[in-house]
Amino acid sequence: MITTVYCSFCGKEEADGDHVVCRQRLSVIDPPRYCAECARRMVVQVTPDGWTARCSRHGEIGPGHE
Ligand SMILES: [Zn+2]
Ligand SMILES: [Zn+2]
Repeated sequence: MITTVYCSFCGKEEADGDHVVCRQRLSVIDPPRYCAECARRMVVQVTPDGWTARCSRHGEIGPGHE
């Protein structure tokens, strides 16, 4: 089970503030920028199929990852 601690859009703690806008952005077009588990900045690649984002510690995630 993955614990989401940090907002993957803005990189701040989930408990810190309102991330409604972040979620809207993520659900529409934008790939996440920060790892939800450690808040490291991820390497994001946009592909014809969507995108992939890779955390140096937690590996790669793709669309549909929660
Ligand atoms: Zn956020
Ligand atoms: Zn990570």
